[in-house]
Amino acid sequence: GLRMSNVSHEFGSNRVLNDISFDVAPGEIVCLLGPSGCGKTTALRLAAGLEKLQFGQIAIDDQIVAHPGDYVEPEKRGVGMVFQDYALFPHLTVAKNIGFGLKHFSDALRREAVERALTQVGMSEYLDAYPHELSGGQQQRIALARALAPTPQIMLLDEPFSGLDVARRADLRDTTLHVLKNAGIATIMVTHDPQEAMYMGDRIIVMNEGQVMQDGTPESLYFQPENRFVASFFGEVN
Ligand code: ATP
Repeated sequence: GLRMSNVSHEFGSNRVLNDISFDVAPGEIVCLLGPSGCGKTTALRLAAGLEKLQFGQIAIDDQIVAHPGDYVEPEKRGVGMVFQDYALFPHLTVAKNIGFGLKHFSDALRREAVERALTQVGMSEYLDAYPHELSGGQQQRIALARALAPTPQIMLLDEPFSGLDVARRADLRDTTLHVLKNAGIATIMVTHDPQEAMYMGDRIIVMNEGQVMQDGTPESLYFQPENRFVASFFGEVN
């Protein structure tokens, strides 16, 4: 699993994360939920190693991967990522896109990993397709397959369903949930949509202005909000 302990972050004089602590167990999906600008993506980028840690500590499977002044690179953290802005390479086939991060594998092992990942997301017949031949939802499936291929312990998802229509969104949610649960991966998913968090999350961490407002199961947040902010956030769910 992953543990963030007392993590704070500043861009210049702007403190965007203020003493955040939480953990995610293997097979658990934790949603970071909050309004735009509350620091969700920054927390995810710190977990990924895409942003340098300034304050606090991050551990993956009990190994410290980041504390101020020391740092394990993203490729060595065993994390998979599906970020909004991580598009597929347009000039590469689906197989090449998924195999891209598996350079250190032998050809046979790479092919096996690519095929397994494609099967996991229900896209095994699209090995030789190019991204432009696929719908938005199919492209997101390939992005998920790419993240799964190296068999990560941790998955980081940033608004992975945004930009999809309602039907495709529901479809991809279910696939994602199923795949991550089956693989026993510890997952952090960023969303600003309370309904999505309720559906996907074993736990939800509600954030506002860089702080954790509440951390609990969907039921506990809905029925026992600890403050007005959480109550009003879930008041929007019908
Ligand atoms: P959204 O849902 O809109 O993506 P978020 O909750 O993910 O929002 P972050 O993207 O983490 O929020 O941003 C938190 C704050 O940090 C915002 O005020 C943002 O403007 C600021 N910020 C993010 N990245 C940088 C950066 N590279 N340089 C300066 N400020 C930044």
